[in-house]
Amino acid sequence: MPDKLANSGQVLVLNCGSSSLKFALIDPRNGNASLSGLGDALGHSAPTVSWKIGGDKHSATLKEGAKHTEVIEFVVTNILAAQGALLQDVSAIGHRIVHGGEKFSHSVRINDQVIRAIQDCVALAPLHNPAHLQGIEAATKAFPGLPQIAVFDTAFHQTMPRQAYIYALPYELYEEHGIRRYGMHGTSHRFVAERAAAILGKARADVNIISAHLGNGASIAAIQAGKSVDTSMGLTPMEGLVMGTRCGDIDPGILLHLGVRLDYCAKEINDLLNKKSGLLGISQLSNDCRALEQAAAEGHRGAQLALDIFCYRLAKYIASYHAVLSMVDALVFTGGIGENSSWIRENVLKRLRGLGYQINQVRNLEMRFGAEGAIEDVSDDSSSPKVLVIPTNEEWVIARDAAQIINGDDSPVPAPLAGGD
Ligand code: ADP
Repeated sequence: MPDKLANSGQVLVLNCGSSSLKFALIDPRNGNASLSGLGDALGHSAPTVSWKIGGDKHSATLKEGAKHTEVIEFVVTNILAAQGALLQDVSAIGHRIVHGGEKFSHSVRINDQVIRAIQDCVALAPLHNPAHLQGIEAATKAFPGLPQIAVFDTAFHQTMPRQAYIYALPYELYEEHGIRRYGMHGTSHRFVAERAAAILGKARADVNIISAHLGNGASIAAIQAGKSVDTSMGLTPMEGLVMGTRCGDIDPGILLHLGVRLDYCAKEINDLLNKKSGLLGISQLSNDCRALEQAAAEGHRGAQLALDIFCYRLAKYIASYHAVLSMVDALVFTGGIGENSSWIRENVLKRLRGLGYQINQVRNLEMRFGAEGAIEDVSDDSSSPKVLVIPTNEEWVIARDAAQIINGDDSPVPAPLAGGD
């Protein structure tokens, strides 16, 4: 099959949050970023833009209250236009969209109908989807006529069977209000599952993978024959693993206890569970895994407890996904923690020896230092399942989906198989 991406230009990838906008100019053929940057503190008194181009770092302050539109204008006028060739190279805009509900099972070209559908999902992602819509509007003004593609965090998980996504609640809550498991981090899980299949020398449809995306947000997915069949995040990103500041799974009775007995209002409960819990809440020190590892090594008991709970809960999820998949080819670690923390990997895996996991100490430590030609397989040769460490690259998936769609392939888009630089 001819490479449909051979003549693609660059894709400007936008990830719009409520007060931030990450941007990157990506070559869809290899994932290389010629430009990457962040608009931050948007809507506040001193919004900033920082960016990296050709290895050089730059930053600027925007006018008070500037939002997504101003950042995109700045990117066009002060960054891309200043590098004329780059602006001409932009062939599409790829938007990361957090929630596509049940409406999107793959990436799509944005039109009025898609915008309405993203609006319909605002109730499911009240902080993110409105910001994405602002980003789409701003990009439409800045790049009139250029195709825009939406890539949904939830899309990869749309293959989950009902037994995985229906909560044990009155069924009308699903039918009337869409309350079900949707899952997030789909773009990352999809990317690493593809890479894992390539590393294992198998077709995507021939591998079963457990993918653990461990960053500030963390989720795990059971992937059968290349398709997501279960994942730990639910209606919202709060469910599942212990995260930097989110609680993950808790007894729902705690919410009633907080509200009824301790007089917390809804906003206070939301702040507690989303921003004050997880590693930060347990340790009373930090949400940052690296800082906690250092503190634990120096004897900080809260830090040690937080890390132990993180590993314990993750190991329980991995073991439960063996029941989901019945046969597992590989466990993949990705995200800032998964890619970098040999301590977390080792302490999770030592609980899972009974399932056949055998970590290789040397390979595991080498990954930690990001050595040249880093070893992706950190398990012993005798380990079954294998244990892989794969740096995620969501921007590349977004760029590649966008390029494939503008090149005329509107079918579900597989993630790239070739390794990036
Ligand atoms: P986000 O979800 O915000 O994208 P990242 O994927 O960047 O988060 O992951 C951030 C997490 O990765 C932090 O907890 C950070 O401490 C952790 N991390 C990064 N490098 C290391 C390291 N060398 N050792 C342990 N943890 C690390």
